[in-house]
Amino acid sequence: MIKFNIPPYVGKEKEYISQAIDSHKICGDGEFTRKCSLWLEEKTGTSKALLTTSCTHATEMSAILAGIQPGDEVIMPSYTFVSTADAFVLRGAKAVFVDIRPDTLNIDETLIEEAITDKTKAIVPVHYAGVSCEMDQIMQIAAEHDLMVIEDAAQGLMSTYKGRPLGTIGDFGCISFHETKNYSMGEGGCLLIRDEDYIERAEIVREKGTNRSKFFRGQIDKYTWVDAGSSYLPSELNAAYLYAQLEEADTINAGRLLAWSRYYENLQPLMKSGKIELPYVPEYCRHNAHMFYIKTRDINERTALIAALKERDISAVFHYIPLHGSPAGQKFGRFSGEDKYTTKESERLLRLPMYYGLSLEDVDLVCSVICDFYQ
Ligand SMILES: *Cc1c(COP(=O)(O)O)cnc(C)c1O
Repeated sequence: MIKFNIPPYVGKEKEYISQAIDSHKICGDGEFTRKCSLWLEEKTGTSKALLTTSCTHATEMSAILAGIQPGDEVIMPSYTFVSTADAFVLRGAKAVFVDIRPDTLNIDETLIEEAITDKTKAIVPVHYAGVSCEMDQIMQIAAEHDLMVIEDAAQGLMSTYKGRPLGTIGDFGCISFHETKNYSMGEGGCLLIRDEDYIERAEIVREKGTNRSKFFRGQIDKYTWVDAGSSYLPSELNAAYLYAQLEEADTINAGRLLAWSRYYENLQPLMKSGKIELPYVPEYCRHNAHMFYIKTRDINERTALIAALKERDISAVFHYIPLHGSPAGQKFGRFSGEDKYTTKESERLLRLPMYYGLSLEDVDLVCSVICDFYQ
């Protein structure tokens, strides 16, 4: 049996969790949280990395820090996870959906400008499969219209755009450490803050509206309630698990890229004969092998292929159902322009098994079942 995903595990997680337990400090912002934040800041070069309880919560924090108010509009793709929209809708904003590019399945940067109104406050590019959106164009549009950019880099740790780590280009970047992501802590995430001006408020929002972070650093002698906030910090037990993985990030990344390349190589003949399409990665984007997907001709062919793989005990799954057609999407959002690719591509896309530790033999087996299917 070949599973679709197995959460990453490198070996040191148990030891680090034991250390956290023995330290009698298992709430947030202890030693392991500090180590994870430092690692993330060094690796990405951003001003501040704050661990959060999820990527959804990092995005919620971004919405608060960006000052999103009821009636504001936020531009994003419809082909994304619900969290991208939820974080802004919770603050009373409207999600304005823009079509995706058929090649990377990322927001089509050329359609953003016509979605802008006088209510628009932010653009939320989602780096699908860890492959970057066209950030130069997006940052340019944001600058011209005075908009914030919040990167949904949930899948993007270890990926770059023209050499710049994903999540560090916009005002805020949101990363996920859910068990389905390349590096995990069960449930968890991280907020990357580009400009130092936002750090103090971010720490306050994350710590229930208090200045406790300053207190812990000895900058003030008692802490107090200074603003509206919530509790967005994960426990040390989760951070301990994550730190073991971050230490091995290069090994995990290399392992995933190896499996990804093997898929690509094995399936290239099917692409060349026009049977399927394979992922496209622009040459200036370095990706992290978060996902390997193929595109079938249509939804019926995909359903048949999923069944053929299942018969061989291989789990392959489709992905997002576009948000604009969902009940909440209709209530809280609107589609700007024409849905040329969002629905069409989402119905053709099939994700193949991909996780750290997936053997090349298993990749070969999956590919041979797919090749047989198209014979
Ligand atoms: C996984 C994911 C999220 C949500 O991450 P959580 O950590 O589960 O909140 C948001 N956006 C995208 C694009 C994702 O893939």
